[in-house]
Amino acid sequence: MIYLDHHATTPCDARVVETMLPWMTEKFGNPHSDHAMGREASEAIEQALQTIADVIEAPVDSLIVTSGATESNNLAIRGACLHPRQKKRHIVSVATEHPAVLDVLEDMRRDGFRVTLVSVGADGTVDLDHIARVIDDDTAMVSVMWANNEIGTINPIELIAELCHDRGVLLHSDATQTLGRIPVNVIGSDVDLTSFSAHKAYGPKGIGILVAGNGNRRVRLRPQIVGGGQQHNLRSGTLNPAAIIGMAKAFQLCKEELAASTDRINALRAQLWNKLSQKITGLTLNGPALDSSLRLPGNLNFSVPGIEGETWLVATDDVAFSTGSACSNTKAEPSHVLRAIGLNESLARQSVRFGIGRHNTEDEISLAVDRLVMSYEEISPGR
Ligand code: PMP
Repeated sequence: MIYLDHHATTPCDARVVETMLPWMTEKFGNPHSDHAMGREASEAIEQALQTIADVIEAPVDSLIVTSGATESNNLAIRGACLHPRQKKRHIVSVATEHPAVLDVLEDMRRDGFRVTLVSVGADGTVDLDHIARVIDDDTAMVSVMWANNEIGTINPIELIAELCHDRGVLLHSDATQTLGRIPVNVIGSDVDLTSFSAHKAYGPKGIGILVAGNGNRRVRLRPQIVGGGQQHNLRSGTLNPAAIIGMAKAFQLCKEELAASTDRINALRAQLWNKLSQKITGLTLNGPALDSSLRLPGNLNFSVPGIEGETWLVATDDVAFSTGSACSNTKAEPSHVLRAIGLNESLARQSVRFGIGRHNTEDEISLAVDRLVMSYEEISPGR
């Protein structure tokens, strides 16, 4: 299988697995126990969190370990907006957010909140003027993703933070797709709440981080999971040393390898796009231009004339890619992101998404092109 679906998930790097293994076998102590084995695990977690804080440039005491970005988003939005001292009842977000934000907002509506979704431009960047216009005295939070998981658009997060803070509003950002693709600096960008997930960054699944605060503003959270009072009562439950240590190693590798991998990954993306568009006529690129700094390295999203992306995907052997967002594949609707950037329903249904990763090679891309062209010819209407 040629794996070209790195926005859905990434393989756990072998170096990450290696650092995790002892913490599942001989060093299995509960990090909340007071004996030596517990202390050993708890010290290793502390070190791992420091590594993570250094990589994302965030204060270490603002890190909350979660089960992934879905939980981080839930804790950020529900936690901050439902805190007893938060009296405001309006949240601003964007039409192109991941369901892990949009569905939380839908739930907040049922809890009596007003939600305004702002629009995006044709390249998927959020409309700053629209955000400025809809923030009002009752706005508690703005939530804008750092980078989009379907079309790879990178938002001007520092500008959005400035706009929010001028108006006294907290900013949450879902940064799930950033690590390993672009540099992230939580303090420098002045985002108040930032969500991360390890499995999108060559780490294990089921583990993530919410950064709650960057040192500049007080962020109060109402916990969403209560129990043993771990993590300063903000998220109870026994911490998973192996997963946290693996996440730290994965994040560290992402930072170390970023500069070397970016050009290579973008060259592979150019190879994939150029070859496919030579062999299949009428492909249309969705999202920012491929050479634009607004687009995540490795991300490719385009529409194919005359066939549904889903049909192409099913007909293609040995290549893993996706249509729209993998997380919304259970829903029959065409991608809400592509609709938001102005594609009509059929173009949205004709879309496919590729995400090239650290381990892909030129040979794999050539083979993938052959397979994709072969399956396209089998199902194309002109056949
Ligand atoms: N946000 C974005 C932008 C994502 O791409 C994803 C994963 N598809 C998530 C949130 C959910 O992350 P997790 O699987 O860690 O819950």
